[in-house]
Amino acid sequence: MSTRRQAILEAVALLRAQNVPSPLYDARELLAFALRTDVMTMRMHSGEVLTPEQQQVFDSYIEQRCKRMPLQYITGRQAFMGLDISVRPGVLIPRQDTESVCEYAMGCADKLEIDQPHILDLCCGSGCIGVVMAVQLPKARVTCADIDPSCIEMAKANALKCGVSDLMRFAQGDLWEAVQGETFDLIVSNPPYIPRSQIPHLQKEVRDFEPELALNGGSDGFDFYHRIIEQAAQHLAPGGYLVLEAGDGQADLLCRMLRQAGFQNVENFPDLSGNLRGCAGQWKNTAE
Ligand code: GLN
Repeated sequence: MSTRRQAILEAVALLRAQNVPSPLYDARELLAFALRTDVMTMRMHSGEVLTPEQQQVFDSYIEQRCKRMPLQYITGRQAFMGLDISVRPGVLIPRQDTESVCEYAMGCADKLEIDQPHILDLCCGSGCIGVVMAVQLPKARVTCADIDPSCIEMAKANALKCGVSDLMRFAQGDLWEAVQGETFDLIVSNPPYIPRSQIPHLQKEVRDFEPELALNGGSDGFDFYHRIIEQAAQHLAPGGYLVLEAGDGQADLLCRMLRQAGFQNVENFPDLSGNLRGCAGQWKNTAE
């Protein structure tokens, strides 16, 4: 019979032995999750003894984490731009870097000065970008598109949970096929962009548990960028924006590709670590 404090210390030793990156943080999160409470409340009563059932549930979570299953797939959630986004295996876990893409895209939405902008989150995964846009811009109409039906399900669930289902549409299909014949004022995308050869070298959590479909960008990582940029003009209203998340070292080439394709006001933008995280451009305004 262990107290909460003892259970955490034992779990930390197990996690550390498997080189789990933040063992204390993860042990606390998983114990709070096993007790169906939050970390703060759990820690206020750290001398309490775990029931055998609680211990068993906690042990099973720690075992999964020791196999390097991401914490978020065990707890089923990830905070993103202040929202509680649900995730599950098969759906890419929202990254903090993508918050910078959302912030940049929100700036573009402001610049549009359109009362009810039509926004597309292309390759939506959990729907995190689209849901944030719908929450922040209540007059916007947001479409989330993805090739994977299980991502569409997750995105719908997240829209419902965040109270924006009525403002959103969901479309399943291979990239642009999902939105044939439709145009948008703002298209935001975090497509797969990791060069195939780098995938075996990714952190175990990502490599062994996250969907390769959401990561693999082909031989140089640019497969999806080419396909997106080739057809973006057909799906953008005049003066509309395309905002793309970029992988490490990809933003400059992406900017060049956007300029070559005829985009204007092309610029890259950083994430909070100071790395270039994305690239954006504005489609020509026919009035010019
Ligand atoms: N940023 C993700 C990672 O580093 C990759 C997401 C993507 O390919 N779009 O794992």
